[in-house]
Amino acid sequence: HFTNLPQIPTDEPFAVNASYIKDPHPKKVNLGIGVYRTNKGDPWPLRVVEDAEKAIYHVKDVSRHEYLSIQGDREFLRLAADLVFDLESAQNGADTPQSSHARVTSIQTVSGTGANRLGAEFLTRNISPGNVWIPAPTWANHHTIWDLAGVPRKEYPYYNALTGKFNFEETLQTLRTHSSKNDILVLHACAHNPTGADPSREQWEGILSVCKEKGLIPFFDLAYQGFASGDVGKDGWAIRRFFEEGGIEFVVAQSFSKNFGLYGQRVGALHVVSSAAACGATDDILATLCHLVRGEYSMAPRGGAEIVRTVLGNKGLRAKWVEDLDTMSTRILSMRTALFEEMVALGTPGDWGHILKQIGMFTYVGLSESQVFAIRERHHVYMLKSGRISISGCEYSYRATSSCSKEILLDSNILADNDLVNESNVRYVAMAIDDVVRS
Ligand code: PMP
Repeated sequence: HFTNLPQIPTDEPFAVNASYIKDPHPKKVNLGIGVYRTNKGDPWPLRVVEDAEKAIYHVKDVSRHEYLSIQGDREFLRLAADLVFDLESAQNGADTPQSSHARVTSIQTVSGTGANRLGAEFLTRNISPGNVWIPAPTWANHHTIWDLAGVPRKEYPYYNALTGKFNFEETLQTLRTHSSKNDILVLHACAHNPTGADPSREQWEGILSVCKEKGLIPFFDLAYQGFASGDVGKDGWAIRRFFEEGGIEFVVAQSFSKNFGLYGQRVGALHVVSSAAACGATDDILATLCHLVRGEYSMAPRGGAEIVRTVLGNKGLRAKWVEDLDTMSTRILSMRTALFEEMVALGTPGDWGHILKQIGMFTYVGLSESQVFAIRERHHVYMLKSGRISISGCEYSYRATSSCSKEILLDSNILADNDLVNESNVRYVAMAIDDVVRS
């Protein structure tokens, strides 16, 4: 009966966000949810997205709301695949643009999550993997997705809390010793969520070797291309490296949530890459993917994909998009620097250098679970219990709500008088961290 359903754990980032919204404290800070915010703490529709919307809606189009094909918007997919694999370029190792195209099968998905889910379903049904290897830690939804796919999950020791870096040696050692042919290896293509620690290029070479050696199937999750560094080529480097290698089959789950700020529009793609020898299998792969999509939701939504297609297909808009990526990645970087400098100025015990070194939206700030609860209780600063903070929640122009009194603001006891006016919340966050680390 419906009354006897098993208890499902709440999804942490959404639960933390809900608690933040309910908290009436005027100095509350939300470092929980992975969305971009401006210096004023507001959402930021990309300028280029607004331009594309104007261009799209300016034209009357009676077909605007018609069904797409099951595969999705094909021009969007061509541009999306080119962004990842640089298919149009002749620089692709020994491949020509034609042979590169022949190795990639793309289908539109319900954003990055949908691409992860569809990829998991595709591989589970067709490859029968013994295990899926997931980084420890990882985006929590990887666990849910692979749990639903019914593939046994194993973790590889991704993060070294002592160094704040990717645990290269132990990861390789674990995979060499314990993985088997056809196991799936989930990899964050850039800006690892939640730690912000990425492999170096040399380390990616090592991961590639172990995949070949053991016959693993890499599963790249690409949620931050261009958002991480401002440079789409740099953020997509690892995937292109695997692609150029030629002899390896893998999949890529691509999201346009962060790099286009199109979170709620659900724009994404799944790319299935055949080895050079097996190219030509794309028709069968596409038929299989379309079958899965047809039985789930028939096709992905078209509105957001139309925006991305409009931008990527137009030189001028594309250049503006690169500027917007730069705006976002630069702000995140400057917040990293600001937070690091505040920690150093406070002389907070510990080494905070990882805040600067880690990449993308998130940092494992290095607080224990009890410190995370303490910082929420005492200072109304919200983050995940792992100590993951979303750097974008830091602002320069911190707004104390006008209705609040000085007494309430001083309630948290760690603010000096002049912090009440026009200060950034970065200092507030740093002082709150300092307080829980020392107590
Ligand atoms: N993978 C990772 C690692 C992510 O961080 C995210 C965004 N939180 C996604 C996939 C997918 O997000 P979306 O479904 O919004 O594209």
